[in-house]
Amino acid sequence: MDIQTIGVVGAGQMGNGIAHVMALAGYNVTLNDISQDALDAAVARIGKNMDRQVGSEKISAAERDAAMSRIGTTLELAEIGPLDLVIEAATENEAVKHKIFDGLAPHLGDQTILTSNTSSISITRLASRTDRPERFMGFHFMNPVPVMQLVELIRGIATDEPTYKACLAIVEKLGKTAASAEDFPAFIVNRVLIPMINEACYTLYEGVGNVASIDAAMRLGANHPMGPLQLADFIGLDTCLAIMNVLHDGLADTKYRPCPLLTKYVEAGWLGRKTKRGFYDYRGETPVPTR
Ligand code: NAD
Repeated sequence: MDIQTIGVVGAGQMGNGIAHVMALAGYNVTLNDISQDALDAAVARIGKNMDRQVGSEKISAAERDAAMSRIGTTLELAEIGPLDLVIEAATENEAVKHKIFDGLAPHLGDQTILTSNTSSISITRLASRTDRPERFMGFHFMNPVPVMQLVELIRGIATDEPTYKACLAIVEKLGKTAASAEDFPAFIVNRVLIPMINEACYTLYEGVGNVASIDAAMRLGANHPMGPLQLADFIGLDTCLAIMNVLHDGLADTKYRPCPLLTKYVEAGWLGRKTKRGFYDYRGETPVPTR
């Protein structure tokens, strides 16, 4: 399968990163969202991030201009369906994702491959609602997409080999590395990472440490490049909570219960960097711990 055109549904932090790397690799990308503001912000963000890459001489100005010219936007799923590959990267909510695949259904090309960038939701279940479970798989990028080397490729129970190979070829063209994961809740990276973040929330909730000491402890004591609470803010606390709920429901083990403090931050709308407040407050010059 020769993939040339890619539709990215959801123009948030992951969608804009995916569009960025795909356009630089030479694919024609169309970004879709329900919000025109999100589409405008995504294109502006991609432009800024590519400017930074030009500044650090990772890409040339001509490569940036060519890549930017390969990115289009639309509010209509009808324009996404006929493309060679769709990568769904909308909010981590199963009902939202079902609605998107249902909305794409009447517009799909015969050969269109459907994928989801979901961090945790069952690929097999998402695929089963479509007319092409064999041409459906998990295409899981890490944040920030232009920087992170790994892509998890998740086969649903019905995913066929040509679909897997087509997605693997894209990962290789991007110069990234694929890790194959089976379709169990949260796959590999988040099965390990998000419970660690949740445990950091419990450590804060129970007063074992404060935001600064927990992050410093894991940065300096475990040699993590970022503390777990700083990382949670970066991922988005709503996304972290959604993944814990998927682990809790999907594996039916109380060790995955979401920390009540994480839930409270999400209820407050303190979702991390994207809302300028989470475990740190980002509204000033430097991030200030909120606890
Ligand atoms: P985000 O909140 O930054 O962006 C989500 C976007 O989806 C928003 O722009 C929203 O307007 C849009 N959206 C909502 N409903 C839609 C619909 N019906 N049609 C089209 N667009 C719609 O979220 P994000 O962090 O970019 O996460 C997106 C997906 O990527 C999630 O499935 C998440 O689990 C996954 N993911 C996130 C990370 C991370 O670190 N944040 C890493 C890997 C994968």
